[in-house]
Amino acid sequence: MDYQEVDYLIVGAGCAGLSLAYHLAQRVELDSSVLILDSKPAFEDDRTWCFFDIEEHLFSDLVKHTWQNCRLIDNSGSTDAPCGRRKYSMIKSRDFYDRVVNVLDSDERFELVLGESIESMRSRVGSVEVTTDRRVIKAKQVFDSRPLAWARLLHSGARPFLLQQFVGWTIETAADEYSFDTDTAILMDFSTRDDQSISFIYTLPLSPTRALVEATVLSRKPTSRLRLTRQLERYLEKKEIRFFEILSREQGVIPMSAAFSRDRFEGRILNIGLRGGLARPSSGYAFLNIQRDSKIISDSIVGGVKVGDKLKHYQYPQMDILMDEVMLGVLEKNPHLFSELMIKLFQRCDTESLIRFLSGKAEIMDYAKVANAMPFKDIFIKASGGLDMGIMKYVRTK
Ligand SMILES: Cc1cc2nc3c(=O)[nH]c(=O)nc-3n(C[C@H](O)[C@H](O)[C@H](O)COP(=O)(O)OP(=O)(O)OC[C@H]3O[C@@H](n4cnc5c(N)ncnc54)[C@H](O)[C@@H]3O)c2cc1C
Repeated sequence: MDYQEVDYLIVGAGCAGLSLAYHLAQRVELDSSVLILDSKPAFEDDRTWCFFDIEEHLFSDLVKHTWQNCRLIDNSGSTDAPCGRRKYSMIKSRDFYDRVVNVLDSDERFELVLGESIESMRSRVGSVEVTTDRRVIKAKQVFDSRPLAWARLLHSGARPFLLQQFVGWTIETAADEYSFDTDTAILMDFSTRDDQSISFIYTLPLSPTRALVEATVLSRKPTSRLRLTRQLERYLEKKEIRFFEILSREQGVIPMSAAFSRDRFEGRILNIGLRGGLARPSSGYAFLNIQRDSKIISDSIVGGVKVGDKLKHYQYPQMDILMDEVMLGVLEKNPHLFSELMIKLFQRCDTESLIRFLSGKAEIMDYAKVANAMPFKDIFIKASGGLDMGIMKYVRTK
């Protein structure tokens, strides 16, 4: 078996692995070898990343679509939330992969290898020994973004814990069939929900005739892809969108829990991306957190933390975690409350505060406004019992 030594090994060339590599590539001071390995044979245009435009990051210029308005829909009508300066924004994975791969290809400090799978990792004194299906690699520090085995996690006792599961199609409709409102991102449409589960349709119009339409379910139990596909088909039927072409498909399972972000180090291995708990527990959004994490890690590396020493990394604001855990805990037990909770939040809370909260940039008054906008206060206050939530004390006084 071949043998190789490197300073840094990044496992997984997805959003987190490539974001970290790209941040490191910007640093001329970095005088180390970085190997990035992924088991996939090639990059595919396999997803889109959306976020509110709350801060600049290294990929801000790749934003291809923005929406000025967000909408939630249920059987009683629709709620609009104008985003103001904080437009809802989308990056296509193809643009992201192309950007990073071009930079890494022309930088001799980096080596990107596809089609090679990690089989095992062992922490040794001062290094990590990694066995792939081709060779043994000795790295001083490993960043691991392999997906979490969520089926195992479900049985691990981590609570609260939900799986966000979705199937999405980018469709092109016949010109006279339907006209999408290109200014409005429909974050959640609950109107086709046929049971008490947390399920909704997410629609991102890309042109009057083109949109990404996604069926999403949040539950503790795995949902079949077939059920999600049926949900999507029923929705399109209800909208009377009968003639369309599917231009691309995406799907995913995102574990939602605060448990994964607690201890991200295993010796000299630092978990990054979804594996490192960077999907926000209450929403599953991860893109901005991954950019923040990549910046802090790369600053820490070039800022003098020696290879192998504990690196700084992104940590959620404590209040975000407290509020997310309470929210997830309530929803785990009362999934039927979800649609009203989200709709009331968007109706009662000012959109700027809500966007800052959802994007991990809340100020103290934003927490208060979000907590105050929540319906079912009794349930939330009970669920927060034992937690020292100053915010819940604020709610009690209202
Ligand atoms: C379809 C989809 C849409 C999403 N949309 C949004 C969004 O709009 N906004 C948002 O904030 N978040 C979104 N997310 C959540 C999150 O941002 C993404 O999942 C993001 O890609 C996570 O990055 P990651 O690096 O952790 O995982 P990935 O990007 O999935 O990368 C993990 C990599 O590890 C590789 N790998 C797996 N096993 C091995 C192995 N044994 N050896 C080597 N490599 C291996 C995989 O091939 C993969 O390339 C979405 C997720 C999905 C799936």
